[in-house]
Amino acid sequence: MAKYVFFTGGVVSSLGKGIAAASLGRLLKSRGIRVSIQKLDPYINVDAGTMNPYQHGEVFVTEDGAETDLDLGHYERFVDEDLTRVNNVTTGQIYASVIEKERQGHYLGATVQVIPHITMEIKAQIRRVAESSGAEVCIVEVGGTVGDIESLPFLEAIRQLKHELGDENVMCIHLTLVPHLGAADELKTKPTQHSVRELRAIGIQPDAIVCRTGSGFPITTELKEKIALFCDVAVSAVVQNVDAPTIYQVPLNLEEEGLADIAVRKLRLETSERDMRAWEEMVARVLHPTGRVTIALVGKYVELKDAYISINEALYHAGFANGTDVEIRRIDSERIESEGLAVLDDVGGILVAPGFGARGVKGKLAAVQYARERRVPFLGICYGMQLACVEYARNVAGLAHAMSSEVDETTPDPVIDFLPSQRNLQVMGGTMRLGTYSCDLVPGTLAAAAYGELHISERHRHRYEFNNKYREQLAAKGLIFSGFHRVSETQQLVEMIELPRSVHPWFLGTQAHPEFKSRPTKPAPLYDHFVRAAIAYAGAQPSEFERRLRRSSIA
Ligand code: GLN
Repeated sequence: MAKYVFFTGGVVSSLGKGIAAASLGRLLKSRGIRVSIQKLDPYINVDAGTMNPYQHGEVFVTEDGAETDLDLGHYERFVDEDLTRVNNVTTGQIYASVIEKERQGHYLGATVQVIPHITMEIKAQIRRVAESSGAEVCIVEVGGTVGDIESLPFLEAIRQLKHELGDENVMCIHLTLVPHLGAADELKTKPTQHSVRELRAIGIQPDAIVCRTGSGFPITTELKEKIALFCDVAVSAVVQNVDAPTIYQVPLNLEEEGLADIAVRKLRLETSERDMRAWEEMVARVLHPTGRVTIALVGKYVELKDAYISINEALYHAGFANGTDVEIRRIDSERIESEGLAVLDDVGGILVAPGFGARGVKGKLAAVQYARERRVPFLGICYGMQLACVEYARNVAGLAHAMSSEVDETTPDPVIDFLPSQRNLQVMGGTMRLGTYSCDLVPGTLAAAAYGELHISERHRHRYEFNNKYREQLAAKGLIFSGFHRVSETQQLVEMIELPRSVHPWFLGTQAHPEFKSRPTKPAPLYDHFVRAAIAYAGAQPSEFERRLRRSSIA
């Protein structure tokens, strides 16, 4: 039978609950324990797929095509396990399922209520993770903050589960903020006391408390003793989670504070010897880079860092592997439209981001053209790949009005178009090409060199496809189609495009999202090669200082 660790949060949101849960997962896995992680989201959307990135940050896509909360990305990156749709449960899913059962007469005339029916459904969903993954320990993060009306049914379900499974099979960890007040020059424990009291009122006594100060002030033993006394936990179970220079250091910090050992003791887990060597080496490389390269990330949700979180992390991972600090310059494609392309002048590489709709497309097309003509390393992800095809059609193949039919339904040359089978879709949720798809790479191409093999698979999230009608025409003008998904004997979907190395050092677009499979100790191949090309390109470019020096010596 699986054991459970529940993570709840108190006082404020954004405490890094997802990272803390993922870190504990990594620490338990390093002790030979099979781990899975689940997120319970209190919102009524069935999944994150229909939410604007400004609302919710990135939508993370799993192998089986679930559109999930971005915390699942942290879980996969930290624990290095592929998760599935059962790993993200929302209130919307719980209610949808209970209402469907009610319509089918499943409840035999009962009045269907939050307790016991909704909580029963929540418990069943929590147990499904262990059933489907075979995990010995399931870590479950409850979204939101204790005290929110929305998360009450989840907390009640956890209380019931603890009662049913017994104390040695369930552990509750509560994350709180211990703020520093300047006037008093003191760290304050009262908010922690209040949020633990709130949790206890629901019937949950935390077994450990993880404290963030967010202020750089350390939590002393004296303070830990105070929190322990007021919140009725052992002093050793009050753990501090200091701000780290990289999120990947958090597991090491929490290890030092003994969080995993607390879990091992509480749940009476059988462990093998801990092995964190690869992780420690990776963190050491992150902290001591030997070079630096700037990558332009051209997108339309750039104000919000979380909107492209997996892309950011994949670029960083590629940097780790190459001993290089990747600096990401987020560029709003609409600003390119109004202010021009000078912001790209000193970057080592240009990544055009995924996206939807017409806003910002002109700027993205201009960025692709800039990368192509000036021979700056270029990686186009999903929409970025589609727009690279549009740019090529327009500016090289002479189809001046080529466009994606997503942007212009009346374009004479829809080089990116709906598949005929999708034309009549009315429903928006979960109807894209989602999840993992295989791809055959063409030998001798950049793509094949990056992957080092010819049969790969990557995750997808899009509606439109390259229109095969234009393949010959663009190929005749030099565009290389380097990867295909085989639908049937006669039908192939274009997955990768690139330029020959004779005309461009590194120019590649992919219909997939390789960033979703990138791990800090194992970068996604295309990101790895792209960053390598960017490092080489930046190294070959004179710095501004050198440029000025040259200019002055000529004068
Ligand atoms: N909007 C494009 C499509 O639906 C690309 C999607 C994406 O970039 N994820 O096909």
